[in-house]
Amino acid sequence: MINLNGLKKIILDILFPIECLGCRTPDVWLCKSCLEKIPLNTMANCPVCHKANNASVCKSCRTVTALDGMLITTSYENPIIKQSIQALKYNYLTDLAKILSELMIKYIDSFDKKNIPAILYSQSELMLTCVPLHKKRLLERGFNQSELLARNFNQHFGFTYIPELLMRIKYTSAQALLSKKERVTNLNDAFEVNRDFNIFNKNVIIIDDVATTLTTLNECAKVLKRAGSKEVWGLVIARGS
Ligand SMILES: [Zn+2]
Ligand SMILES: [Zn+2]
Repeated sequence: MINLNGLKKIILDILFPIECLGCRTPDVWLCKSCLEKIPLNTMANCPVCHKANNASVCKSCRTVTALDGMLITTSYENPIIKQSIQALKYNYLTDLAKILSELMIKYIDSFDKKNIPAILYSQSELMLTCVPLHKKRLLERGFNQSELLARNFNQHFGFTYIPELLMRIKYTSAQALLSKKERVTNLNDAFEVNRDFNIFNKNVIIIDDVATTLTTLNECAKVLKRAGSKEVWGLVIARGS
């Protein structure tokens, strides 16, 4: 007798047979050797004007974003990365979150000690969170990919992790489906800080899967700063175009 879960697994196995997205090795979504071949971002730039620095937003770009810096693990141009992120989000292959968060860990650990952003040293004042989904979207998808990434990432670093620090109060269209212009206004007033937590003078790192125009992270940073936080940085797997 096959129960419902067994049946679900069989159907998923037919639709998405488990094999490495890179080399088709069976039974893994991303094998060790393909994972090791993914080049990590070695350049640190201002996320707005791309001037080389330590990944912080440079002085002259402060007027256009509330973010203080961006940590970008690898390139979205890498087909394995693009496929993995899409499979995690749209094909519900949640096992990929663990694998992708390993890349994030490796990237943070690879930072040149002289150039490492100070926020990563501010342990006692540092809070880690993720970009939240609206309750309705969470029900549709069943999980928040950014939360899975952040949770796995933090198992290594052990920062103060508060997944519910930000709340999404507006149900909006998916950013990816909108034009550049629409993306900017789509998220106006979409986020709020959960007042159960005191973030006065705290530094916050927000994890998301992909950043494109930085609109989502900027909106999150805006409300965090309004609520009193000090520095706000984003950490993503990749930056899309
Ligand atoms: Zn492989
Ligand atoms: Zn700049």
